[in-house]
Order: sequence, then structure tokens, then C-alpha cells
Amino acid sequence: MSLCLYVDGDRWRAHLRAVVDAHPGIVPVAKGNGYGFGVGSLARRGAWLGADLMAVGTYDEAGEVLTRFDGDVLVLTPYRPFMQARQDRRLIHTVGRLEDLAALREAAAAHPPAGRPRVLLEGLTAMRRHGLTAEQVRAADTSGVSVEGLALHLPMDGDRVAETTRWLAAGLHDLVFVSHLTDGELATLSERFGDVRLRPRIGTALWLGNRAALSARATVLDIHPVAAGDRVGYRQRRVPRRGNLVVVSGGTAHGIGLEAPTAATSVRSRAVTLARGGLDAAGFALSPFRVDGRQRWFVEPPQMQVSMLFVPDGTALPTIGAELDLDVRFTTTTFDRVTIS
Ligand SMILES: *Cc1c(COP(=O)(O)O)cnc(C)c1O
Repeated sequence: MSLCLYVDGDRWRAHLRAVVDAHPGIVPVAKGNGYGFGVGSLARRGAWLGADLMAVGTYDEAGEVLTRFDGDVLVLTPYRPFMQARQDRRLIHTVGRLEDLAALREAAAAHPPAGRPRVLLEGLTAMRRHGLTAEQVRAADTSGVSVEGLALHLPMDGDRVAETTRWLAAGLHDLVFVSHLTDGELATLSERFGDVRLRPRIGTALWLGNRAALSARATVLDIHPVAAGDRVGYRQRRVPRRGNLVVVSGGTAHGIGLEAPTAATSVRSRAVTLARGGLDAAGFALSPFRVDGRQRWFVEPPQMQVSMLFVPDGTALPTIGAELDLDVRFTTTTFDRVTIS
């Protein structure tokens, strides 16, 4: 039995349409675990939305989209000569170092059918992840490549409008691909720079923007009554009191219990966690699975495909085979099955 993502199809599709309609020039992003849906599934959805361009994270992902979507495919990770980079007429590379322009030219020369490499020049923003300075963009030798635009990947915090304004005012290209600008920021910038076309690259707000249309569910595989002090699981830990063990589908292979580190490391947020007390203080971790309306504790770290939960006496027990709701991050969860109604 499996961990499933159920999608209310009408609601989800209406949301996707609304986001696309509200963002002219949107570039749907399909990368990583495909935001829970899988990259291939999102590629088909991009085609259904009528997108002319989709973005993937890596060259490895590009293949999954090129076969299912007939528009252009932008690779967000900047090209490096050591990458197994595809050469395809529909592929647009991102370039973040001057020497990579020359390498791309040479790589393309070795694959004549691919033609002149199509590239975006990425600006080095306050993110400081990848990119060229404005001076480098201006001075770049772009012979043998086709520069289709400038790319800016902005941090979540900071004055993004001021930073984007500096880049746009430099007049480097009239087509600029941006990431993580709010609708308000996009509107301000479009108004300020009427002669520049902005194309927002959007993933999360598109695919996962209507949470009410999505539900993750696990299946109850087994239930065992336990007494206080009984030893259970691989680690033979003692259960704290009388109750039941509920064994559910969903483990480390699905990303269960593997949280991305949060930025919330303040003393206060840690104090709040400790104040929840009880099992937490005893070293138990709160699971994302809900039984009888509440998140329950893991009795030990999740196993590869199942998790063992403790529920105290007095909890209304599910039946074996019943599905439980769970609160997971879709970008870190691998579902066994995605069902779109
Ligand atoms: C992942 C990514 C995006 C999409 O990010 P979301 O937060 O999912 O919308 C946009 N631009 C770049 C460069 C990215 O790497």
C-alpha cells in the first residue's frame, strides 16, 4: 500500500488556468520531484496549458520534458562543460560564466543538427549563487550563440524591486526572465520598464498554489494494542503509556520524516517546540500523519516504506485499510501514486 496524492482535478485545473491568465509570459517550472506530481506529468500539463516554454532544473530532467511537451525547454542550472548537456534546438541554456559561452559554442559545433546554442545570460543577483555581473554581460563575446534574454534569480528576502530596477536600467536585454517576484513587484516593474518584456518563472505558486485542491494520504496497514513500557520497533524503544501502535504506509523512501532544515532557528521557535512537552521532551518526534484529527508521534524514526505511530488510549482508531491525511511538503515527498480526478 502506498502514499498517494489526490488532486481535485476541476479545482486544480481552474487554478492553473487562473495563474497562467494572471501572468502573461509565465514559464512553468517543472523540476526536482515535479512538486510531488513528477516532472513528466507536469510537462504534459504545461502542454495542456498552451505554454510555449517550460523550465527544468537540470539537463537530466530536460529529456523528460522534451518528449512530452513540444515547446522550448529552459535549463535553470547554468551550463558547465563537465555536464552531460543535451544539444537540442528546443533547449535553452543558462550561462553564468564567460568561459562557458566558449565551451557551449564548441560543444554545439560538435553536434551540428542542434544549431547555434540558445542561451540566457544569468545576472549575479544578491543571491550570489550563479551569474555574471552587468559589466560581464555587456562585455560577453556572444558570437556563435543566440542570446535570447537575461535571467535574474532573486532572493526571497531583500528589496527585489530595487535590485531588478538596477538590472533593467542597465538595458542589457529587452527580454528578462525573473524568479520569485510577487505579482505586485512584477506590476511595478512592468510599469516602470514598458519596453522590457518580463517573463516570470513560476513553480510552487502554480502547481501547489491551491492547497485545497490537493490532499496527501497514507494507508493504515496494521494496529496493535500496547501497554506502557512495551518495547517496539527496530530500536526496541519503550512506549510511554497504554494505547495503540498504528503502522502506516509512508517512510523515508517517500521523504517522510526527512525535513528540509527550516530557517526558524530562533530561541523562541525552539522553546515553542519544547513547550509542547510530553512525548517531545522524551525524544519522540511529531509525525505528519493525522489520526482522529490530530498529528501523532512516531514511536521511532520512519522506516523505508512504513512508519509506526503511537496513539494513546481513548483515541478513535481507524480501520486497517483506511486512509489517513498527512501534512507533508510536496516538494520533498515522493508519492507512489498521483490520482487526478
Ligand atoms: C526553482 C526555481 C524557480 C521556481 O521556484 P518556485 O519557488 O517553485 O516558484 C524559479 N527560478 C529558478 C532559477 C529556480 O531555480
